[in-house]
Amino acid sequence: MKIKLDRTLCDGFGICAKHAPEHFPLDDWGYASLAGNPVIAPTDEPAVTRALLDCPVHAITTLPEPGRPDTGSAATAPGSAQK
Ligand code: SF4
Repeated sequence: MKIKLDRTLCDGFGICAKHAPEHFPLDDWGYASLAGNPVIAPTDEPAVTRALLDCPVHAITTLPEPGRPDTGSAATAPGSAQK
């Protein structure tokens, strides 16, 4: 899974950091950022998904990943031409 954190939405509840602290470090004011690679390893997906679902302001969202059928809505094969 690939995720995005919209810091303009974050209200600093810190729930994401509780579930997956290695992915969501908090700054001095308690606001989260996304650490490292936005592509989450399968072993970390449960904790990150829990953070995503528990964020009260939905600041964490998933992004479509090419080649993964379970992401995104209007899937388009990579390299296919659209006119
Ligand atoms: S759970 Fe949501 S609102 Fe709370 S710190 Fe994380 S991203 Fe920000």
